[in-house]
Amino acid sequence: MNKKIILLFLTVSFFTVLHAQTERWQQRVKYTMEVDVDVEKNKLFGKQKLEYTNNSPDTLDRVFYHLYWNAFQPNSMMDVRSQELGKISIGGSPDWDRRVRDRISHLKEDEIGYQKIKSLKMNGAVQNFKVHETILEVKLSKPILPKTTVTFDMEFESQVPVQIRRAGRDAANGVRYSMSQWFPKMSEYDYMGWNPNPYIAREFHGVWGDFDVKISIDRNYILGGTGYLQNAQEIGYGYEKPGTTVKRPSGKKLTWHFIAPDVHDFFWAADPDYKHLSKELADGTTIHVLYDRNEEFLKERFNSLRPQQKENYKNDFKNYLAHWDEQWEEVMWAAEFAFPYVNKNFGPYTYKQYSFIQGGDGGMEYAMGTLLNGPGIGTVFHELMHNWYQMLLATNESLYPWMDEGFTVWATEKLQSEYRKAIRERDGITEPERNQPQSLPENHAGSYRNYFGIAQSGLEEPLTTHADHYNTNAAYGVASYSKGSVFLSQLGYITGDQVLAKIMLRYYDEWKFRHPNDNDFIRVAEKESKMKLDWYRLYWVNSTKQIDYGIDSIWSEGQKVNIRLRRVSEMPMPIDLYINLKDGSQEIAYIPQYLMFGEKPAENNLPRKTYEAWKWTHPTYVVTIDKNINDISSVEIDPTQRMADVNRKNNKVEFK
Ligand SMILES: [Zn+2]
Repeated sequence: MNKKIILLFLTVSFFTVLHAQTERWQQRVKYTMEVDVDVEKNKLFGKQKLEYTNNSPDTLDRVFYHLYWNAFQPNSMMDVRSQELGKISIGGSPDWDRRVRDRISHLKEDEIGYQKIKSLKMNGAVQNFKVHETILEVKLSKPILPKTTVTFDMEFESQVPVQIRRAGRDAANGVRYSMSQWFPKMSEYDYMGWNPNPYIAREFHGVWGDFDVKISIDRNYILGGTGYLQNAQEIGYGYEKPGTTVKRPSGKKLTWHFIAPDVHDFFWAADPDYKHLSKELADGTTIHVLYDRNEEFLKERFNSLRPQQKENYKNDFKNYLAHWDEQWEEVMWAAEFAFPYVNKNFGPYTYKQYSFIQGGDGGMEYAMGTLLNGPGIGTVFHELMHNWYQMLLATNESLYPWMDEGFTVWATEKLQSEYRKAIRERDGITEPERNQPQSLPENHAGSYRNYFGIAQSGLEEPLTTHADHYNTNAAYGVASYSKGSVFLSQLGYITGDQVLAKIMLRYYDEWKFRHPNDNDFIRVAEKESKMKLDWYRLYWVNSTKQIDYGIDSIWSEGQKVNIRLRRVSEMPMPIDLYINLKDGSQEIAYIPQYLMFGEKPAENNLPRKTYEAWKWTHPTYVVTIDKNINDISSVEIDPTQRMADVNRKNNKVEFK
């Protein structure tokens, strides 16, 4: 399809219904930065001009910046927290992040990270500031009045830490510089006040704005990251217009000039051995793939393989190298597949480019791109989906990590299943027909299993827990990734999956480029489904109460059958009760939950009867169906298993 048709298509499907946006002010930033990199000393010398607009109704007498890299110093909050969690054993292993462990405590002077402020002025006046490890507090000489803009001028010096977590240098996989959280970054001030979250583990909540960044670095380095390269013709390395000649200025260094509009973060990465692939998709989005192709390093890695692994490459390094290239080319193929699907189902991508860049850590999302440890497609898709659930819908990750990670997991599960289908088609593989019913919701089974595991473990904490304050990393992980993903697939059970699909697009439409919270999402879901859903948020998000419904008893009365259902655990839910008849047909008895004040549309063509709503105060409910008991083969509560019922043993009764 050409660009015009796609644009027309997007316009028709996404913008015909205009939804009123909820009023909420947002601060605004405009960064202009010039950074000089010393690749021998691994230091950055930066000048930062920050135009800061106070759109709040409040007068600000101080501001906060993040100095993330100060976390990479012995005895920092990140260090101590990790070591403390390491003392907790879960399933026989320490609960710390495997990447952090106690590594920070062993860093030497030239291996630590730091961000030092050399000078800071506001509107030309020198400002006093105090460094609280990863947070810089500036007590302003003059307050910032509502609806005014001030300019901060800062000079800073940073040392790139050895690769521990997210940012760093000289990672085990050979990547030289992974540059995230690399500049002093204004903390967000929003309707909840300042958000000076120290850097302990989780990181995202930033101010929306525009970036203009110039990075000077030795001319043999190849860069990628957030932002559109402005001087591609002076840089080259595959960024230049195809078929044109590159005119590089003379000197030891090259200055890379990027601009990035409407983002709340800016990352970059640099390595002299990056191989750069790029491609323009049908809709005009340019995809960049940059991966480390240092043959010496890869050869070492090949040599350290076990004999059996080497056999896979016929003991030939050339085959290993070819496979390495193929895997990254596959990333490009996956992106080409993913973008149209994601644009259609979760809202159109708004930037002109996206970059998949090999970095030193396990996979981390940033604006317009991601850093990936390797080319695994699961992570490729996960980080890509974060461009929607974090980079465009910028929930406060400290407060709502489940809306960031959970929504991403849910969308990735959908995308991956579509991708598997496409791969099978491309490679001519025919899948054997599934005749066994799925044991858990298709594509989301892993999330449900993890949730059930933590629900039974006694470690579960409510989703309202601040991301850094969960008692264990295990509880944080399952809550945010898995219970957050189940939040959506289970919402599909309540509203119907077709309605859920519309909710996700409307959520994007109303909240992109803003900071939605959990109530904002629920309000969108309520408007789209025409149901009250506050109870769902209160139980699933604010509590660890569980769902368990069962079939209590069944008795017949002439041509009628009475089925008594029981709510065994605390959380109320609507009930889809499937009646399976001996002639092979099925019917649904649908019992809305009282607090919904609404009902979901039929999701399939099966005959469905809607019953009176079940009052949540009542532990039992009797469904009477007009059937002879001898015609029924079985009855079952929610065979789709989208309802996260912790005990399904009592969900089905079969008749002889
Ligand atoms: Zn993630």
